[in-house]
Amino acid sequence: MHILVCVKQVPDTTEIKIDPKTNTLDRSSAPTIINPYDAHAVEEAVKIKNKFGGKVSIISMGPPQAEKVIKKCIEMGADEGYLLSDRAFAGSDTLATSYILAMGIKKIIEKETIDLLFCGKQAIDGDTAQVGPGIASRLGIAQLTYVEKVKSLDLESNTIIVHRKIDNGYEVVESKLPCLITVEKDINDLSYSPLPSMIRAARYKSTVWGINDFKADMSQLGLKGSPTSVRRIFPPAKRSGGKLLKGNVDEMVKQLTDSLKEGIVRWQL
Ligand SMILES: Cc1cc2nc3c(=O)[nH]c(=O)nc-3n(C[C@H](O)[C@H](O)[C@H](O)COP(=O)(O)OP(=O)(O)OC[C@H]3O[C@@H](n4cnc5c(N)ncnc54)[C@H](O)[C@@H]3O)c2cc1C
Repeated sequence: MHILVCVKQVPDTTEIKIDPKTNTLDRSSAPTIINPYDAHAVEEAVKIKNKFGGKVSIISMGPPQAEKVIKKCIEMGADEGYLLSDRAFAGSDTLATSYILAMGIKKIIEKETIDLLFCGKQAIDGDTAQVGPGIASRLGIAQLTYVEKVKSLDLESNTIIVHRKIDNGYEVVESKLPCLITVEKDINDLSYSPLPSMIRAARYKSTVWGINDFKADMSQLGLKGSPTSVRRIFPPAKRSGGKLLKGNVDEMVKQLTDSLKEGIVRWQL
């Protein structure tokens, strides 16, 4: 059983600052962490490996510093890590990111099969939740998104059954392997890393692939391959105080409708 997990290095958003002059994220102000959803994806992959045997590989696209999150995954019990890092990849939006990651995954598949792919539900910085489904469609495999539980995995029939989170409950979905799963945090609790894995992680060096390791279509990656662009980034405006409605019901309804007519829609009872 070979499981591949896509892992993104993200700024620790509880500490990130926005540059008030340029309206861009001041990435130097924030320490980086493994995307929290991806940590749960790694945990689930390691759990499956421990039950069925096999190995867990990690793939990440990012600057050389992203190797830190791969080491974190090795600490958690992953076996191998691939970092896709090149200036040509910079400026990629979600479409281009999924192209680059799919390219890396296909290169791994050239030397060994992958039975199951995991992604986080979303990254806490970009927040689009588009990359997992993007990779699945580029690889032509099924995608099971918002998964909160792996119910069963049957290697004889090559099938997996999962619970997908929906608004008022969950859906039970079955898929043939290989497929791509994006996970919710509820899927598991993170466990402490065992000491041998921590020692291995400290010495571990990922395989790093740049643009020259691929026969890439340059029009599909980096800024050129990114049809979307960020026009402006800004913190939400501070809320002003609400308007307190007073009097009996009729008076309050009148005040409310007057306010709505004036375009003042924030109110408080
Ligand atoms: C409109 C737009 C324009 C952008 N422009 C730029 C830009 O000019 N420069 C720039 O640097 N960034 C840019 N970005 C950010 C960049 O596109 C995203 O960081 C990247 O595409 C991942 O998208 P996301 O963060 O929404 O991930 P999501 O789709 O929310 O992530 C879901 C899952 O996909 C996997 N995943 C996502 N990204 C990676 C990765 N890099 N490596 C491994 N696994 C991953 C993880 O498992 C993650 O949990 C832009 C984003 C948008 C929406």
